[in-house]
Amino acid sequence: MATKKTSKLRALNRTGRPLARRPARRSPKAGKAPRHVYYFGDGKADGAGNMKPLLGGKGANLAEMTRIGLPVPPGFTITTEVCTYFTEHDRGYPPELEAQVEAALAKVEKSVGKKLGDPETPLLVSVRSGARDSMPGMMDTILNLGMNDAVVEIVAGKTNNPRFAWDSYRRFLQMYGDVVMGVQKRPGEDHDPFEAVIEKIKHKAGVEKDTELSVEELKTMVGGFKALIKERTGKSFPQDPRAQLWGAIGAVFGSWMNDRAIVYRRKYSIPHEWGTAVNVQTMVFGNMGATSATGVAFTRDPASGERVFYGEYLINAQGEDVVAGVRTPHPIAQLAQEMPAAHKALMKVRALLEQHFKDMQDLEFTVEDNRLYILQTRNGKRTGLAAVRIAVEMVEERLISKEDAVRRIPADSLAHLLAPIFDRQSVARAIKIGSGLPAGPGAASGHVVFSAELAVARAEKGEKVVLARIETSPEDLRGMIAAEGILTSRGGVSSHAALVARQMGKVCVCGAAGVQIDYSKRTLSANGVTLKEGDYISIDGTTGEVFAGEVTTAASEIVQVLVDRSLDGKQSPTYQQYAKLMRWVDGFRKLKVRTNADTPEQVVNAVAFGAEGIGLTRTEHMFFEGNRIDAMREMILAESKEARVKALAKLLPYQRKDFIGIFTALRGLPATIRFLDPPLHEFLPHDKEQQLDLSRKIGVPVEQITRRVQELHEFNPMLGHRGCRLGIVYPEISEMQARAVFEAAAAVQKKGIKVREEIMIPLVAFPRELKLQIGIVHRVAAEVMKEKKVKLTYLVGTMIEIPRAALVADEIARDAEFFSFGTNDLTQTTLGMSRDDSGTFLPAYAELDIVATNPFASIDQKGVGKLMEMTRDLGRKTRPDIKLGICGEHGGEPSSVKFCHRLGLEYVSCSPFRVPIARLAAAQAALE
Ligand code: PEP
Ligand code: MG
Repeated sequence: MATKKTSKLRALNRTGRPLARRPARRSPKAGKAPRHVYYFGDGKADGAGNMKPLLGGKGANLAEMTRIGLPVPPGFTITTEVCTYFTEHDRGYPPELEAQVEAALAKVEKSVGKKLGDPETPLLVSVRSGARDSMPGMMDTILNLGMNDAVVEIVAGKTNNPRFAWDSYRRFLQMYGDVVMGVQKRPGEDHDPFEAVIEKIKHKAGVEKDTELSVEELKTMVGGFKALIKERTGKSFPQDPRAQLWGAIGAVFGSWMNDRAIVYRRKYSIPHEWGTAVNVQTMVFGNMGATSATGVAFTRDPASGERVFYGEYLINAQGEDVVAGVRTPHPIAQLAQEMPAAHKALMKVRALLEQHFKDMQDLEFTVEDNRLYILQTRNGKRTGLAAVRIAVEMVEERLISKEDAVRRIPADSLAHLLAPIFDRQSVARAIKIGSGLPAGPGAASGHVVFSAELAVARAEKGEKVVLARIETSPEDLRGMIAAEGILTSRGGVSSHAALVARQMGKVCVCGAAGVQIDYSKRTLSANGVTLKEGDYISIDGTTGEVFAGEVTTAASEIVQVLVDRSLDGKQSPTYQQYAKLMRWVDGFRKLKVRTNADTPEQVVNAVAFGAEGIGLTRTEHMFFEGNRIDAMREMILAESKEARVKALAKLLPYQRKDFIGIFTALRGLPATIRFLDPPLHEFLPHDKEQQLDLSRKIGVPVEQITRRVQELHEFNPMLGHRGCRLGIVYPEISEMQARAVFEAAAAVQKKGIKVREEIMIPLVAFPRELKLQIGIVHRVAAEVMKEKKVKLTYLVGTMIEIPRAALVADEIARDAEFFSFGTNDLTQTTLGMSRDDSGTFLPAYAELDIVATNPFASIDQKGVGKLMEMTRDLGRKTRPDIKLGICGEHGGEPSSVKFCHRLGLEYVSCSPFRVPIARLAAAQAALE
């Protein structure tokens, strides 16, 4: 603490002003000194709303509000450039700063007719941070600056309100002591030292609330605070308001580099170089009695987007009282009765702010003795639901253009619109026990189960279950389908659980590292709470939160209209607005959006969400349904080609039937079908019981099964016998799959539905791998066309998932009619980083700024992206019209979609519930 305090004060002299520096001598040619300070007041401002990088969001908007005639208390903004200078010069200031601050302060003093530290008309100011993007609560603020032993008496006399004066003084001492002089809780202390003083005085006075303290007790508190500061720092609290001011300015600039601000910037990708501005502004008081108030308001409801003035206020209070929750604020509508004039003025401000800023505003106001002041405005944070409603209604109100509406809605926020939601009151009562990665948006609540079998069994009984697994594998698929939501304690955003959940539109929280799942004890423990199998658990896949107990949920109206078809779109204004927005979106975008889907149901959902075809069908997922897995296992365990062909013959009708379903559901849209890809071991029965069961079913001795499972064991299955290597070693697998596709296509086409199949070979590294596989596809296609007497048109192409494929893309393009970037594997193989295990070390990488975002969620544009560019160029060199798309999980992530637009791909493909997000991101990319 001591070192922190010393360094905070290092750049100051005894009075707290910057150390004297000789003003830089300027030659007449050097021009004006750089401007570091921007004044605002009396309807004039040096700055403006479009100067956020220099003045921060708060400073720029204070200037803008002043310009448009809103009642803003005068003040000035010190620029973010000074913050950068301060950080780089060991807490020092540019030489011109002191004079510029003095000049601006003099203007403020003139404007309000008060002077800082004046014995008759003292000025009090606030000193607040304000970065380019708001970072709520992350940096420091000081109020009531200018108070000292003499000023407090003058304020008490002038306002005839000693309680107000002494209360303001003690609040200032507490903030100043903490933020500027570093008097804070020491390690091992339970309470903030200022709070400890307050508690002692309240205890002695026998009162519970601060507001019940008398003037004498507040005076005792002021004395106590000053003594505390002296005792902890060895220095007296500075009585000189100039010293206070420079101390506060330094502390606010310094707070840009405090731990919480750094952590926040990392989370929201705010560059450290931006810096914060400092705003020094005349104080106005909402705590001067019954004619004063303070409040916060949104120009529209930030949760629903409804065009109502939404906010709350407290009579006779300072801003911090509204947020602290000690007293319950009143809804803003009530102000019309309590302070009709202020309410009327506020309603005018509301209209003016929206007219001017053309977005929903979040504002802070104070009424001082019946006079309204606006202290801050910024674009309000909102839910996805509100984002859509506000944007669409603002177009209808002719406030913004359709382009603005499309640009302004964060594409990801549509996930919120489609997800089931937790009932707001219910979640407020729930106990949060942990958090993980928000992998599948929405809210799910149900009985926790630890195995797929139990999930299925309990769901069949009509119960809602949440499947909790350490990690999931394809064997869990049926359990995942049966569950309301999936929780894993390991795995990242492209782990199996995450991608399957997203594809199914399931709620999923993955990689919740603090959650311990014990399969043997059948318990889940987190944060001191232990749940037994069957207990209620709730997960929020939009935020990643995990709660013990039941939380009520409701389905999104859009899903009710498009997927469940339980609601008529005409009855749902939310759906109507969504549909309108999406029509605009489709008018702007160039990139097509396809879907990753393996079942007719997923296809129908995706098409309802606007998918223009399938970009990836993972055929292996089809082998887990019903008892197909037995035939699959029989095929894998076969020790001869004959035995394998026999088992494959059992699978053929299943696959054909699936493809018929998919092609029919597509109604003429294209379908990329990928041949078998995962390592074989994923299909194998690993425990003795499953092996015995299989032995009975397929009539093979269990010893033989056990031996074969051991033979097929791989040390590194993701780099093992998978992808096209399966079809290379066992061509009969590819043959069966090709036959299933073409026979299905023939059957569907005979019903009058056009089929546009695109066969995709996975994990190709060598041109000859593709050549051999394509040979099989063409041969089987010719056979089927002859047998069925139909003409089929199809394409054959490959995934680009391995760097070698990117490097020799020109050669591969000789045979491939299309490339689809499998960026899950391409990221894994380019970075040499396991997509399933990276969750354990990637958080540390983010913390140390090695990666800005998770490369499995958002394309690593510098590395993987470069390979994609190379692939595009090499591919087009050989085949100028080669079709290019992406089907990795990145295809539904907005910044990656925008990258794909810039790359000139024809389409992105993503899970059905992300299709609207990709459409919106594609439109935004086109408007960039
Ligand atoms: C990929 O690797 O990006 C891909 C789509 O294939 P999978 O996720 O099935 O490996
Ligand atoms: Mg892959």
